[in-house]
Amino acid sequence: MTEIAGNILGSARKLVCTPVNRLINSIDPPVIVLVYHRITTLLSDPEMLAVSPDNFRTQMQYLKDMFPIVRFEEDWAKTAKPAVCVTFDDGYADNALEALPILEEAGVPATFFVSTGTIGTRSEFWWHELERIILNGQSLPPRITLDVGRLKRTWATGSVSLRQEYFREAVQLMTNADTLSRNDLLNQIRATAGINAESAGDTHRTMSIEELRRLASSRWATIGAHTVTHTQLSTLTTGAQRAELETSKRELENWLGRETKVFSYPYGRRCHYTQESIALCREVGFSKAAANFPGQAHRWTDPYQIPRHLVRNWPLEIFTEKLRGFWTR
Ligand SMILES: [Zn+2]
Repeated sequence: MTEIAGNILGSARKLVCTPVNRLINSIDPPVIVLVYHRITTLLSDPEMLAVSPDNFRTQMQYLKDMFPIVRFEEDWAKTAKPAVCVTFDDGYADNALEALPILEEAGVPATFFVSTGTIGTRSEFWWHELERIILNGQSLPPRITLDVGRLKRTWATGSVSLRQEYFREAVQLMTNADTLSRNDLLNQIRATAGINAESAGDTHRTMSIEELRRLASSRWATIGAHTVTHTQLSTLTTGAQRAELETSKRELENWLGRETKVFSYPYGRRCHYTQESIALCREVGFSKAAANFPGQAHRWTDPYQIPRHLVRNWPLEIFTEKLRGFWTR
């Protein structure tokens, strides 16, 4: 779709959706669920996952002053006013080290959805490794060819913009790969840079088990599951999906000594999970699941596809403006 056609469609949708959603909100006060990933300051953040501690503090104080704040796992049926819910995905160490003190200080509860595969390993998610290999000055051959399924794909790496293009396309390929193909691609990408295995830094590590326990012991924090390997569920067989859900739930329960009742889908758009994933969530014992597309949660919203709005590193004036849009978008 061209950009102009996209803009026209976007404006048309806004013209229809905004008044309709406003009317619906007046009948049933919605819950707006926000999703964060990291609270820290990074030198490089191509995925725009980090919110600075200062911006996060201001955002939380504003929410606390302006809205009722509900917990993700609660029953929202009796919510009498429009309310906000704060969630985190992935399980970064900064959730425990930087986000938690701010949440405690502001008195805002949050639910942290954690991928268990990297917890306690000091390892990073694959997208940070790609960032280090492709974007951060590593010497690379001028042309890179990777086996992608049965095809060969080639990228040039001779300039910053070419490397950015290679990075974007590699992220896309790996997001859409099952676990085996993704590991195969990662190994090929490592080999092109002369790296044999993961060489994690400290900046992007996930929580240790101790940090996770500390986070879970706060009365302001709830821990939910986010699979083991952070793989797109729609690429997996039924058995592999079930294993991702059950194992992450069980590992969290073993570490924390309490039931894990809620879940969020990796990547979380409608194409990233299936009706089968939803059925499996229910079967393994989750009572709610969070998706990752914008929308308002109402009494009639599917509890296994709760929409969420992604928050970026916005100062207060942009945050308040975006939030106004979240009630109707
Ligand atoms: Zn995630």
